[in-house]
Amino acid sequence: ENRVIAPEYAPEDAEVENPLRPRTFQDYVGQEKVKENLEVFIEAAKQRKESLDHVLLYGPPGLGKTTLAGIIANELGVNLRITSGPAIEKPGDLAALLTNLNHGDVLFIDEIHRLPRAVEEILYPAMEDFALDIITGKGQMAASYHLPLPRFTLVGATTRAGQLSAPLRDRFGVVLRLELYEPQELAKIITRSAGILGIEIEADGALEIASRSRGTPRIANRMLKRVRDFAQVMSDGVITYSTAKIALDRLEVDELGLDSGDRRMLNAIIQYYNGGPVGVETLAAAIGEEAVTIEDVVEPYLMQIGFLQRTPRGRCATRAAYLHLGLTPPGAPMD
Ligand code: ATP
Repeated sequence: ENRVIAPEYAPEDAEVENPLRPRTFQDYVGQEKVKENLEVFIEAAKQRKESLDHVLLYGPPGLGKTTLAGIIANELGVNLRITSGPAIEKPGDLAALLTNLNHGDVLFIDEIHRLPRAVEEILYPAMEDFALDIITGKGQMAASYHLPLPRFTLVGATTRAGQLSAPLRDRFGVVLRLELYEPQELAKIITRSAGILGIEIEADGALEIASRSRGTPRIANRMLKRVRDFAQVMSDGVITYSTAKIALDRLEVDELGLDSGDRRMLNAIIQYYNGGPVGVETLAAAIGEEAVTIEDVVEPYLMQIGFLQRTPRGRCATRAAYLHLGLTPPGAPMD
């Protein structure tokens, strides 16, 4: 597997991620609409001395949801607690987290769509009334407790808002969608990261890495680290356009950021299904990938660069995809 291009978190990111994580809105590049909205809501909450409404962030992995939760807590001047849907197994786990919060704190739940049902049910009153209703015992011995909680802000993150149950989604006052980043924005992030890590990088070197990072800051930072190794050996430690290009070619990431997995998927659509339409489940089986991975990780970028269309009858490869793979699009004039 080509780890460089996977947008999911990998342990190797930890070392590089912490110092690189922006702490303020000023340092957080791009996502202008999201930032503007959040800044207003945060300011208003501060003026009213209230906790911020619950916030749902959705979008492909690696775009900066955890980072934003940290910035929100930082700007509010409160603590951030980080957990994830699958980590909260029982209602008691959630109760323990919530009762330990201080007034106004931010609780970040990543992959919130993966919360167990029973946990989700006690989360509703916690979000709405800042209280936990817990039932203990059975039959005649049953007792219910109403436990008041400190006011807190839940920041939930998920790859697709549609994965959330409607009652959970409805309890978020603020719902914001993160978009893939443009190469120019990623180049800024890369230049900033290089500065923090003490790496010398030329502007067109940064842009070359940016163009191959599939719109994802996590991938951009990871590539920067890999390219740095090549630069050390090839160009006195300076990342130039040509070192970036050679390094990324070696890592088998093409000029548009496609890796072997992307190419395999496009080739499957074209060769087995005549370019589509083909349903995502069928496609997943054909290439041995999970349908959710295709939908959340592979497709958003292929759609952004205009290589893939989602139609009601399934996925279709575009003319641009054929040409990029060196194939002849159907109906193309021969020359
Ligand atoms: P996941 O949902 O998969 O956990 P995420 O969306 O929470 O991913 P983060 O962990 O917040 O992603 O971000 C990944 C990395 O990208 C971080 O190290 C952070 O430094 C960097 N990053 C993300 N967004 C930005 C941004 N807007 N500006 C600068 N750096 C960013």
